[in-house]
Amino acid sequence: MLQTLNSRSFADPAVHAQGLYINGQWEEGTGIPVVNPSTGEVLAHVADAGVEDAMRAVDAAHAAAAQWRATSSRQRSEILRRWFQLMTEHAEELAMLISLENGKALPDARGEVSYAAEFFRWYAEEATRIPGEYRHTPSGSHKILVDHEPIGIAVLITPWNFPAAMATRKIGPALAAGCTVILKPASETPLTAYAMARLGEEAGVPSGVVNVLTTRDPGPVVNAMLADPRVRKLSFTGSTGVGRTLLAEAAKTVVSCSMELGGNAPFLVFDDADLEAALDGAMIAKMRNAGEACTAANRFYVQAGIHDAFVAGLTKRMAALKIGPGTDKETQCGPMITQKAVQKIDQLVTNALQRGARATTGGAPLAGSGYFYPPTVLENVPADADIAFEEIFGPVAPVYKFETDDEAIRLANDTEYGLAAYIYSRDLKRAMRVGKALESGMLGINRGLMSDPAAPFGGVKQSGLGREGGVTGILEFMEAKYYAVDL
Ligand code: NAP
Repeated sequence: MLQTLNSRSFADPAVHAQGLYINGQWEEGTGIPVVNPSTGEVLAHVADAGVEDAMRAVDAAHAAAAQWRATSSRQRSEILRRWFQLMTEHAEELAMLISLENGKALPDARGEVSYAAEFFRWYAEEATRIPGEYRHTPSGSHKILVDHEPIGIAVLITPWNFPAAMATRKIGPALAAGCTVILKPASETPLTAYAMARLGEEAGVPSGVVNVLTTRDPGPVVNAMLADPRVRKLSFTGSTGVGRTLLAEAAKTVVSCSMELGGNAPFLVFDDADLEAALDGAMIAKMRNAGEACTAANRFYVQAGIHDAFVAGLTKRMAALKIGPGTDKETQCGPMITQKAVQKIDQLVTNALQRGARATTGGAPLAGSGYFYPPTVLENVPADADIAFEEIFGPVAPVYKFETDDEAIRLANDTEYGLAAYIYSRDLKRAMRVGKALESGMLGINRGLMSDPAAPFGGVKQSGLGREGGVTGILEFMEAKYYAVDL
């Protein structure tokens, strides 16, 4: 395999356009064009799997399962550790590939590769620490022994916005737990998934343990896998709408589900905040991945006393960002994933402007090739504008003014989502009090970034079910088995 990779650049899209990857075999296929969002040009084509291919992937995962779950956790750990190492060695080429097919600026792509690889390192470590329990019954009748076993074949579905990290955040714990998997990456960004599968092969992942398939018709393909009684886990990251559909489908065979869904993160700035720190944090929380992140700050609630200075500072920073193709060295804000995404952002901004908001920078899509929307700040946004309730998924920062802590909490919680929230205040007691009142799975206190492989990532309300990463992430891929023991 490495001869192929050495003879052509690992960052060359054509090298990775050879899916499907089933049972350790690479199969040719050309049904899905992969487009560079910076230019609109086709980079490569990948295979378009049908239901029969999906069933072959389930067969392969099933055939490999018994041997994989019987390996020692040390063996699984060392394979994951080698995979981490290989991702690190190929970091620059992987970043280029991500930037080409997703459009994100290279610094963001490099950040993603490093974050993604860390899930393999973290779960290489966690694989050897799978917990068990020994307890006494209150009545004294017997002993309680709890073991954790791999749950079984896992179907992993990932979105386009973090094509490497969303895959490793699932594959890492699944393999560490002893499960075999079928990964279905997003149709817009399949090349990164195939590139990582090549590294996994090189790291020593046995045939059939990781299978990758791309399809332009995910509904029937995924439904067929969920209907197969050998599949016991669905781990999905994507929109809340598709998540709801999949939960209903998984209910038919009572498949265990982990759901990482959409977000509508509030970013609260109190009068006593350090303004410069709040602006630094706002730029990270809003502009990482050009706003195409589930944790992206979607609503800026700023207290009256600091509001005007915050809007002025944010406008200056947003207007100074260099927009361009993701792979250009200078670029700080790349394109959106598709023209459709640009249109959605445009609709939300237009609605806000019609309702009385004012754009202090940006405010309309950019003409030309590629799918560009400029960094935009909106002030005077009505609290009930469409943009307050929908994921923007783009470089737009709507700012809302508030007077009291209670008002900020009420506005922040006025959403079906509950993934991430940010609080800026010099008063830690106040920040913790507000944090406790916010309906959110994750909180950044005086920080614009919370993602970390060692922390439990996930949301409440309609942002999801379960947690990825951290010490509990591995248990999402395990079943507790209780032995009642009479000693
Ligand atoms: P999406 O449209 O829901 O797609 C996600 C994945 O689901 C893709 O692989 C997609 O395949 C697949 N899919 C679509 N319809 C399906 C169906 N009927 N059955 C089975 N699979 C189906 O989401 P996206 O636009 O790619 O990603 C953006 C969304 O993901 C945002 O809402 C964002 O907040 C969320 N997200 C959440 C997290 C988190 O951790 N909470 C992290 C990142 C992103 P195709 O590509 O072939 O359509």
